[in-house]
Amino acid sequence: RAYNFNAGPAALPLEVLQQAQEQFVDFNGAGMSIMEMSHRSAAYEQVHNEAQALLRELFAIPDNYRVLFLQGGASTQFGMLPMNLLTAGRAAAYAISGNWANKAVKEAKLIGETIVAASSEGDGYRRTPALTDIIVPEHAAYVHITSNETIEGTQYQAFPDTGSVPLVADMSSDILSRPVDVSKFGVIYAGAQKNLGPSGVTLVIIREDLAAESPKSLPSMLRYDTHIKNNSLYNTPPSFAIYMVNLMLKWIRSSGGVDAIAQANQAKTALVYDTIDNSGGFYTGFALPVSRSRMNITFRIHNEELEKLFVKESEQQGFVGLKGHRDVGGLRASTYNAVPLESCQALAQFMADFQRRNG
Ligand code: PLP
Repeated sequence: RAYNFNAGPAALPLEVLQQAQEQFVDFNGAGMSIMEMSHRSAAYEQVHNEAQALLRELFAIPDNYRVLFLQGGASTQFGMLPMNLLTAGRAAAYAISGNWANKAVKEAKLIGETIVAASSEGDGYRRTPALTDIIVPEHAAYVHITSNETIEGTQYQAFPDTGSVPLVADMSSDILSRPVDVSKFGVIYAGAQKNLGPSGVTLVIIREDLAAESPKSLPSMLRYDTHIKNNSLYNTPPSFAIYMVNLMLKWIRSSGGVDAIAQANQAKTALVYDTIDNSGGFYTGFALPVSRSRMNITFRIHNEELEKLFVKESEQQGFVGLKGHRDVGGLRASTYNAVPLESCQALAQFMADFQRRNG
């Protein structure tokens, strides 16, 4: 298997892929694949409900929250969220931490009044905004944060206290990577394709009362209450993707749950960050240490030609996805839940060896 450091879609555990392979043409003796089954069948509904129940268990989601499986990616949530929550006379407040937060606020502006609650642009998005800088306007419908900036490689280490104003988080690139107190949030959403499974399904965790006030003019598919009332089965769900999410959640559970996953992520990323910090300046981290992500490690080499050589040689040695995003440049290793420790050990070794040969 490749050492897969792709930013997304990202690595899945080999066991999960093998389980899916075993059941691919014949799901539990049904004589057909899960993707050939009616989404109204008892067999499919069991998978659907099991995935929801596992999410509740693993992420300790309180009873007054609903778990939805939607389509359109996190990018659709950038618009759907303000369509539902940004009601007349209110404003949506956004903490701008980088590329994805900017995309989210851009969509909200199309729907209603938005306020920049804080921004780390002045720091070149090398950190998330300081919690004490986040302004919560009284008439805010919600405060939106991006818990992990996939491109810059920054991550909130703690979350702001927004009082009675609902806190909303785009957790696309760090959902289930660490324990989170869900009761501090009004809405959490995430595309599945990094930590939860394949692309095609988007997770939304929403406090029930927040779905009660959607404007009457909203089309059915864009209303949270439609999906709540219909248990995410209003129309045909992405059944195969949800099946894969269910397998992935079982894998997280058998790995010891989210606490164990968080510890593993800490150990995995420490190997790479330590290599950067002990390189005597050969490698430099892009994110400031206060905001370093445990999911996306962004770093540079002082010389762009060497960065190109690093990518080329890494590919020859079985590493995938280490080229940085064009907006930040340099290099990036995405170390999502399914990336094994061995991949990070191999990367740290490759980095040290590359420095020895080129430093
Ligand atoms: N938000 C973050 C933090 C992301 O990393 C991404 C995708 O990389 C998105 C949103 C967009 O997700 P999607 O492709 O599911 O629309």
